[in-house]
Amino acid sequence: MGGTRGHGTPYRFCPHCATALAGDDRDRARCAGCGFVQYRNPIAAVAAIVLARGEALPPPGSLITPAEATHLLLVRRASTHAGAWCIPCGYVEHDEEIRAAAARELMEETGLTAVIEEVFAVHSNFHDPFDQTVGTWFLARYVSGGLRAGDDADRAAFFAIAAPPEPLAFPTDRRVIAALRAQQRSV
Ligand SMILES: [Zn+2]
Repeated sequence: MGGTRGHGTPYRFCPHCATALAGDDRDRARCAGCGFVQYRNPIAAVAAIVLARGEALPPPGSLITPAEATHLLLVRRASTHAGAWCIPCGYVEHDEEIRAAAARELMEETGLTAVIEEVFAVHSNFHDPFDQTVGTWFLARYVSGGLRAGDDADRAAFFAIAAPPEPLAFPTDRRVIAALRAQQRSV
């Protein structure tokens, strides 16, 4: 989706003093009135990878490693990219610790409580030029809860890593799923 409105859309007027902004040599919007500069940085995003052996939830408290896993948890999106599938994900809120953000997004979209474990992948997301992010994909250890799609998702289910549903919302999720598949022992 995206288009011309996102957090990276250039401001036309200073958000502090309302002076019309002019671009600088990096095309940052700069205010001649108060000195404000709009730095257009990517936003931090997180995703939680819950792995399983089959379409059922893994045993509570057990971390299924990429080598052991056959399935991963995906959600179908209901707002942006509606109808497309992704690994449960979202933005890190201001003042929010990054692993807390991953656990929160997983809970909101799937109903699952999990311990956020090691980083599996980090990628820049350029698919939306006005809404760029740096995403961190964590492995997540399932602890409790039943699958219940919520918030930005209308379905949550486990799918074979070798055969994810289409369409996938994000090209970087496709890279992550390919990397998971590469780590599978022969199953
Ligand atoms: Zn200003």
